[in-house]
Amino acid sequence: MPELPEVETVCRQLEPEIEGRRIERLEVLDGRWSRPVPPEVLGEAVSGATIRGLDRRGKYLLLRLDGERTLVMHLRMTGNLILREGEETIDPSEGRRLYESERSTEERHLRARFALDDGRELWFTDPRRFGEAFLLDDADLDQRFAKLGVEPLSPEFTPAALGETAAGRTAPLKSFLLDQSRVAGVGNIYADEALYRARLHPLSPAGSMKAEHLEALCDAVVAALEAGIDAGGSTIDDYRDARGEKGTMQDEFLVHTREGEPCPSCGGEIDRIVVAGRSTYFCPACQVKLRRRPRRRRR
Ligand SMILES: [Zn+2]
Repeated sequence: MPELPEVETVCRQLEPEIEGRRIERLEVLDGRWSRPVPPEVLGEAVSGATIRGLDRRGKYLLLRLDGERTLVMHLRMTGNLILREGEETIDPSEGRRLYESERSTEERHLRARFALDDGRELWFTDPRRFGEAFLLDDADLDQRFAKLGVEPLSPEFTPAALGETAAGRTAPLKSFLLDQSRVAGVGNIYADEALYRARLHPLSPAGSMKAEHLEALCDAVVAALEAGIDAGGSTIDDYRDARGEKGTMQDEFLVHTREGEPCPSCGGEIDRIVVAGRSTYFCPACQVKLRRRPRRRRR
């Protein structure tokens, strides 16, 4: 599932390619992508728009359009946003549409197609079809994202801010990091990697972190995400970057999916437990389980 580094990778690759381009036509091929708005209504609203830029908030992609509007897209489980040359999937020598079995995986999973004025196309492909898109006025963006937590790559992400969000919380650190209303964009992979880097046990209660833990976790979240971005994201299942390439972060995981393998630091075995329904990988020797702190008595 794409997390912040994967979405950021797509964003950084795509923006210079599509900024200033005009969307000749948006064709929505799957009603689930645009619902509850009918596909042809969304398609008509976006067709003809000029792209001002592409941003990210949490795991959301924000396609800035003229008219102070933004098309918000979420890749969810298996969505990909890929820039393609227009003719690639139709066999030009035969001039016919290819048979289902011959068509590329991307074309079979195509949910929406943006035809750009330079002849290229931007494809939203999604085998599991959980991805979505909706058009908002820029004025409504803040309200739409009001419940999204602090952006971990922004200056607002500080040990103090993290401490404020975690204060009094008994939820395990792993669940705390997965909660998009606390820290935006961190998912299962980067939560494991960040907790390992911070030397914190995933079952430690979030509210039990002291100043040094908050500082360590803050640094670790940023380091884990930046490692992911540097590697072009992780490809475990379906993720592809904007050029259709796999990321390489999965080869560099410190603990995630490494059950039974040696810890890069102490050589002990990486363990796997389930937290909040998600597989969680950690080193039992290196990662300290914090004790729950007694609640401060209210006066
Ligand atoms: Zn270890």
